Formats: sequence, structure tokens, C-alpha cells
Amino acid sequence: MTKLRLAIVGAGPAGIYAADILLKAEKQFDVSIDLFEQLPAPYGLVRYGVAPDHPRIKGIVNALRDVLDSGQIRLFGNVLFGRDITLDDLKKHYNAVIFSTGSIKDAPMVVPGIDLPGSYGAADFVSWYDGHPDFPREWPLDASSVAVIGNGNVALDVARMLAKHADNLLPTEIPDNVYQGLKNSPVTDVHVFGRRGPAQVKFSPLELRELGELDDVDMIVYEEDFDYDEASKAAIASNKQVFVIDKVLTQWRARETGNASRRLHLHFHAKPLEIVGTDRVEAIRYERTEPDGAGGTRGTGEIREIPIQALYRAVGYFGSPLDGIPFDEKRGVIPNREGQVIDDNDEQLYGIYATGWIKRGPVGLIGHTKSDAMETIKHVLNDQANWWAPAHPDEESVVELLRTRGVEFTNLDGWHNLDQHELGLGEAVGRTRVKVVERDEMVRVSNN
Ligand SMILES: Cc1cc2nc3c(=O)[nH]c(=O)nc-3n(C[C@H](O)[C@H](O)[C@H](O)COP(=O)(O)OP(=O)(O)OC[C@H]3O[C@@H](n4cnc5c(N)ncnc54)[C@H](O)[C@@H]3O)c2cc1C
Repeated sequence: MTKLRLAIVGAGPAGIYAADILLKAEKQFDVSIDLFEQLPAPYGLVRYGVAPDHPRIKGIVNALRDVLDSGQIRLFGNVLFGRDITLDDLKKHYNAVIFSTGSIKDAPMVVPGIDLPGSYGAADFVSWYDGHPDFPREWPLDASSVAVIGNGNVALDVARMLAKHADNLLPTEIPDNVYQGLKNSPVTDVHVFGRRGPAQVKFSPLELRELGELDDVDMIVYEEDFDYDEASKAAIASNKQVFVIDKVLTQWRARETGNASRRLHLHFHAKPLEIVGTDRVEAIRYERTEPDGAGGTRGTGEIREIPIQALYRAVGYFGSPLDGIPFDEKRGVIPNREGQVIDDNDEQLYGIYATGWIKRGPVGLIGHTKSDAMETIKHVLNDQANWWAPAHPDEESVVELLRTRGVEFTNLDGWHNLDQHELGLGEAVGRTRVKVVERDEMVRVSNN
């Protein structure tokens, strides 16, 4: 019987689901899986992307933890592919590798003034409030009027985190410095801008509805944005998501504006043209758009400006290239056919696979990474004849390699230590968890 020694790089949901699916698949051979993760903690964007006030989604880590705890996977945390371990190393120790490295960076946005001080990427802000160890711990929250560009769930997360009163976040796992930063924020108005109409947004009804439930925050929508064309009416009639979104917005349209201390404005049909300012962000200039009758929008030529002191662009995430692995610079993904990585000539690179956001781009929910993983694993299994033939397939030799290189890696027991430690810190102050943020401290607690 053959044994498949598999390396998975990236311990987010995509990598963990891939391991789970492979372990449960019908196969004629044994499997041994090593999961490499650059952070000392697993779970990728579930830990460092999903908003802290979404405990139900954060709870997906329980299912992921069960997979890690199945006893058939080794976790090597604090190991960065490309620095601590390379493709050549993997070829010497494994039959195949799956890359599930996701996306952590903001996609670029080309608008004059976007690089002014006071203009931020949503991904950086998310990494700050979710306590990612590789991002600065200080965040300048000094603006009273803020713009958020984008009409997806990340834009709504960012807008909600900016508008929500910090005390309402206290029961969550936000790090202390994040609570203090948000507590001192002078924000009064958060303006969300979307180029298209309310029937074309990308956010989900649940995320939208949640905004209306924020304590001491008024939702403001503008009547002029609801002049639906036939295509928009058809979308509302035929698509349940759009129907519910319209229903929620309709309720807000009918509502009297209250006297909350903070306001969250939704501006549809607003296409950003320029971020205005000399030394820092001072205003956003945008063009009103209108429905074009075919489900899209066109410019009206009417230009408006709203004063702001900070701006967040939430226009999507973007993957990062990995050493020695092909990369599609336009889409920010590893080029692949159903997870089989291909080179510039469209030829399959045997032994190398991809799954999750780095495979198909940064769209979709955690659940989608499961179907991704199924497709990729199907090929890993079928490609047995073309797996690599490693010189050192025994499980100890890769541990030796990391030790020889002086890599201070953590393992699954270490993660359990850190997890317990964070839960303990939380319990002491009546919260579910308090995250440890500094990498050194994470490693110290893990390896204690
Ligand atoms: C702000 C935000 C909020 C979201 N909210 C929700 C939500 O509420 N509900 C929902 O269902 N989905 C949500 N999503 C989507 C969800 O997070 C993704 O679908 C999912 O995390 C993608 O999984 P992944 O494993 O491909 O990538 P990731 O989760 O990004 O995992 C990739 C892992 O690879 C590691 N890695 C990267 N490079 C290397 C390297 N060189 N060496 C070693 N390790 C490496 C990373 O550290 C990371 O742990 C949200 C996403 C974002 C950005």
C-alpha cells in the first residue's frame, strides 16, 4: 500500500477542509498530512477577517478545530512558505502540496488622491481590529466624517465597526487596544458609497439588516436612489436576496430619522471620481449615476462632494505571489485548472495544487471553500501516477529540517495552549476571549 505524504500550505478554512475531505475520501492508500501556517494560530480569515461581532461565524472554528484534533494532521505554525520552507524542500519530503494561502491584501483602486494620508485599505483596518500580528497596533481614528467605498460585505463590516459604539463590542474578542481606539473615536458620520443601485449591491441581507439594529446609530438612505428601472424591478421580483435587501431598505425609507449621536449613510448611484485634499483627505468627489435600463448604470454628469477626514476602500482583496509558484498578476491567484496548478504554457505542474481564495480569487463565503477543496482533492487522488517521489518521506525528517534552520515553529498542542490562554484571559474579565496579538507572545505561550 502506498502512503500519500501531503503538505498543505495555509491553515485557513480552505486548507483545513482540504485535509478533512482527503482524510474522509475513499482511497487505496494511507495519508499523512502536514499543515504549514505562517501564523502561530490557525484558521486564517475566520480568525483575522470575520468581524468580532459575528460570533456565529467565528464559531466555525469549532468545526475546523475538530478536523485538526482528528489526530491525523500535524500543524506547523509560525512557518512561512518561501522563507522557512521552500518548494524544493517540499519536493524532498512530500508527494504533493496544496497551496491554500488565501488573500490578505487590499486590491488596488485607481482614483486620484487615493494615496493621500487618511486614505486606508479596508483589509489593513480589518487586520488591525481583528488583532493580526503582522499589522501595526496603532490606528488613527481621528475623523468625524468617514467614507467607505464599496458595496460588499467587507464594506458593511468596516462601516459597522466604525459606527458602532465601542462598549457594544466589549463582549467580543477584540484586543484591548482596539477597544480603546474605537472608544476614543470622534466619528459622527459614516458614508458608504456604491457605484450602482440598491438592486445591484453585493452585500447579503443579513449584513445589511444588522446595520439597522446598531445602538445609537441612525441609518440614512436617500429617496433619490430608489428610482428603479425595469431591470432593477425584475431583479427584486426574481432574486430572493435582492428582494429582502429592498425590503430592509424600504423600511428605512419610511423611518423618521432619529437623534442618534452617529449616522450611517448609504449612498447608491455614487461613483467616486477623486479624493480631494492637499496634505490629507478632505473630501470625496463623486458623480451621480443612474440606471441604464439594462441592469447597469451610466454617469449623469452631476458631480457632488462630501467633506470627510478619512476614507476606507473596500473594493476587494488580492492574493500574494509565492516563491517558485506561478502567479496570475491580474487576478491575484495561482493559475490552475480545477485546482491543478498550471504554468505559462497551460501545462500541469505535477504535484502542485491550489484551493480556496488563492485558487479562485477572493470572493465567496467560508462554506464555498469546502466545494473548492472537494474539486482539488479529487485531482490529488486521481493524479497518483504523477505524484512526486520524495527522497525523505519519513515524518521526522521535515521536523529535523525546520529545527536545523532554527525555525521556531509551533504545533497543535501549542495552539491548544494559546487557545486556552486566550479563553482564560477572557474569563478573567467576563469576556469570551481576549486575543494575544504580538507574534512573539503567541509563540511563547504556544511553546510553553
Ligand atoms: C473582512 C472579511 C470578512 C469576512 N466575513 C465572512 C463572514 O462573515 N462569513 C463568511 O462565510 N465568510 C466571510 N469572509 C470570507 C472568508 O473569510 C473566506 O471565504 C475564507 O477565509 C477563505 O479561506 P482561505 O482558506 O482560502 O483563505 P484564508 O482564510 O485567508 O487562509 C489562508 C491562510 O494561509 C496562510 N498563509 C498565507 N501565506 C502563507 C505562506 N507564505 N506560508 C504559510 N502560510 C501562509 C495565512 O496566514 C492564512 O492563515 C470574510 C472575509 C473577509 C476578508
